[in-house]
Amino acid sequence: MSVEIQDPELKEMLEHGLYFHGHLCPAMPLGLRAGLLARRRLDVERAKSKELMLLSETGSGHLMQCVLDGLMMSTGCTYGKGNCKKLNYNKMAFVLINVVESKAVRIAVKPEFIRQALNSPFLERRQQGIPPEMIEPEIAEAAINRVLSLPEEDLFNIGDVYDYEYIYKQEGPLEFCEKCEEVVFGSKARVKKGKILCIPCSGYEG
Ligand SMILES: [Zn+2]
Ligand SMILES: [Zn+2]
Repeated sequence: MSVEIQDPELKEMLEHGLYFHGHLCPAMPLGLRAGLLARRRLDVERAKSKELMLLSETGSGHLMQCVLDGLMMSTGCTYGKGNCKKLNYNKMAFVLINVVESKAVRIAVKPEFIRQALNSPFLERRQQGIPPEMIEPEIAEAAINRVLSLPEEDLFNIGDVYDYEYIYKQEGPLEFCEKCEEVVFGSKARVKKGKILCIPCSGYEG
């Protein structure tokens, strides 16, 4: 990738982001920039633990869902840590919450940008059903360069910081499944005919 990036933090994130994400596409770097912008609006570092919460309005199976990997990378909000939630609105927007100070900001990708991007060679190929990794690297790189070089105000609608109190759900006790004997955390065990069972052993749906 031959990209000139002035912002050292973004540069480092792009490297890690590409490695984590697995293919070249403009949506992941778009997420990197959006998450970084949200963090700077809230004046917070990447989440080490649960001090930030990411509510992503993206979904699954749409053209630009990759944006969430960029958001996770740049905010430090991840599925593993439990401070990332996908709302499945299939929208290119998210809310980043500073849980400690009860502040949040919502950022949405500008419709004008998406409209233009849909006519780009990269997204034209994607709309034909070509997977990202099969698209010519120079086409993917041109799309990424565009996302990385446009001014923030051309890419995003940036909301004001507002009050938002976010409370994590209290975790329940852990149980031992009476059939497979494996551990079940946080009240996810089921009771069937008087026996405490994990979800797979119970035959119930999650
Ligand atoms: Zn992607
Ligand atoms: Zn079990």
